[in-house]
Amino acid sequence: HAKKSGRNKYQLFSAEMNAQKTQNNRLESQLNLALNADALFLDFQPRIDLATGHMVSAEALVRWHNPTQGLMQPSAFLPIAEARGLIVPIGYWVLGETCRRLQAWRREGGHIVPIAVNMSAMQLRDSLLPARVAEILAKTGLEARFLEIEVAEGSLTHLHTDASISTLVELSRMGIRITIDDFGDGRASLKQLQCFPINTINLAPCFSNCILDHQKSDAFTKALINFLKGLSFRVNAKGVETLAQLKYLEMQGCDGAQGFWLSKPLSATHFGVLLCPDRPKPQLRQLVLRHH
Ligand code: C2E
Ligand code: MG
Ligand code: MG
Repeated sequence: HAKKSGRNKYQLFSAEMNAQKTQNNRLESQLNLALNADALFLDFQPRIDLATGHMVSAEALVRWHNPTQGLMQPSAFLPIAEARGLIVPIGYWVLGETCRRLQAWRREGGHIVPIAVNMSAMQLRDSLLPARVAEILAKTGLEARFLEIEVAEGSLTHLHTDASISTLVELSRMGIRITIDDFGDGRASLKQLQCFPINTINLAPCFSNCILDHQKSDAFTKALINFLKGLSFRVNAKGVETLAQLKYLEMQGCDGAQGFWLSKPLSATHFGVLLCPDRPKPQLRQLVLRHH
């Protein structure tokens, strides 16, 4: 009896696995088509300098108009893209699109700011990365200082350290800014902080949203920010959803901030308006434009 129900369970499980596999295969082939059919697009989320309240940079975030499922967020397709190696061509598309957008805004008279592009460990393991980035910059005519490469702290541990460090060093020498994303949430070692050519540290969102009423985490956050600033990193807070959080992070010494309270990720059209010089420089809450 037990044996029979065990087998049934196994059959159920393998049927689910097959369904999942079919679904992933379909997503993979749809993604391949999307890459060549303008079905991917980017939103841009402003980052604010806390001293001036001005937008000083932004983050590019990829989205997908899926033909059967509609708008898809990165969490719904990047894991499959990663597992099937498609993250590399998607990453090059994101880099190219970011540089093309920046140049287009500049041609229209916009005062452009640097834009951060997220990179997975797999992209950093591609030894052609610096050459390809140089090619994209040359082709679009964009200066390297307008490009920021953002590596999640969690993916640092997956890097074949030597090769990836030299890739990052090469990108940094080209004038591209390097950011560690979601710091404090993964397993980066202090040694990695010392070895990698880092300009900016993005604190993991948990430092913004679980702090206000805990004295111990207050002291911890403050000490962490002081430590990072002492090493000359720019410290950017993420996931800022309330004014209270923003004021708190400012008091703790953060240099910059990003989050829904300041601005949601914006469509390229809405973001482009923020770069327009005729408009007074956007101040904190003025950035709260609704998305679409
Ligand atoms: P991330 O790099 O940590 O990006 C920030 C994510 O938090 C974005 O989600 C953004 O919409 C969301 N967010 C911003 N402010 C707030 C806030 O105040 N509260 C909350 N709860 N969320 C906020 P999104 O766009 O869904 O992206 C998710 C992740 O997907 C990104 O996390 C990044 O790791 C990855 N990703 C996005 N675009 C790319 C890309 O072009 N390439 C790669 N490799 N990864 C990407
Ligand atoms: Mg990021
Ligand atoms: Mg994240």
